[in-house]
Amino acid sequence: MFNVNSQAQFKIDLHSHTSCSDGKYTPFELIKRAISVDLSVFAITDHDNMDSIEIVKDVSIPSTMTFIPGIELTTRSCLLDEADFHLVLLFPQMSKGQYKCRQIINKSKLNHLKQLLQDNLYVREQRMRWLIEHLKTQHKLEVEWQEFHEYHLVNAKNRELIQRYSIAKYLVHKQYAKSVQHAFDTYLYQNIPSQYFQLEEMIQLAVNMNAIPILAHPLQYVQISQQLSQCFKIWKGMGLRVIEIEHPAMSPSDKKYLRKIAKQNKFFQSIASDFHNEERSNGWKSDLGNTKGNQLVSLAEKQRLIKYIFTAKK
Ligand SMILES: [Zn+2]
Ligand SMILES: [Zn+2]
Repeated sequence: MFNVNSQAQFKIDLHSHTSCSDGKYTPFELIKRAISVDLSVFAITDHDNMDSIEIVKDVSIPSTMTFIPGIELTTRSCLLDEADFHLVLLFPQMSKGQYKCRQIINKSKLNHLKQLLQDNLYVREQRMRWLIEHLKTQHKLEVEWQEFHEYHLVNAKNRELIQRYSIAKYLVHKQYAKSVQHAFDTYLYQNIPSQYFQLEEMIQLAVNMNAIPILAHPLQYVQISQQLSQCFKIWKGMGLRVIEIEHPAMSPSDKKYLRKIAKQNKFFQSIASDFHNEERSNGWKSDLGNTKGNQLVSLAEKQRLIKYIFTAKK
């Protein structure tokens, strides 16, 4: 029988970022932080890469915590006019600590995902080259791809990907900005054309490999509509069972709507700090285990979610 901690102190956080994508801390530093804030279940979900999984594969986790490796995919929905959605995938089979998963991961599907991510990396580098060119031509900054790349290789922690955050640090180094935040606000505010995975394909791929797909901050890029409510039903039919309810970007009315959707579709409700660093630019701040909102998701609901993650059958 699967047993989840029944103590009132059952803090979970299933969405966070490290320096493997655009987070400030290395995977080791973030795990240390998760332990220090007494999280019971904690997941690292970097954007479009699984590098942190390899980095922390030998890290030891205290028996009071369970660490779940994951990823956050940047996707668009073909059902909703190519609207942006982020999809978190958790791999409970690779977790460490208190809870163990009995399902086996489908290796060939996992390899397929890794190949897709690798192809994506190539496109990412092209985008960053474009951004450096843009800073040169539009903002008249004296920046060069080669110089940036060398700076990045020397200064990046672990295997940090080249991303806007890396360019922000380079701009601070070049004294074009006072801080990373200042660089984002002044030069890196615009959206760069990028490559997206297809949400519906990724939900199905996740289900077929026995990973757990979670729709992240569902209302961050779309408005509430009848069409959206219909989409939740279709995604449920594809195997989506979990949506984020607690997230620092969600307003009280967003949460109310999502709770209603969760009830209608019998979705499990996830909790996400989406922690990157202490100084986040887009209007919200969070720390691990703390979404700065009303804690709507009850202890029983959290326990049901964790039980589902570790015992779900296709
Ligand atoms: Zn996201
Ligand atoms: Zn995120």
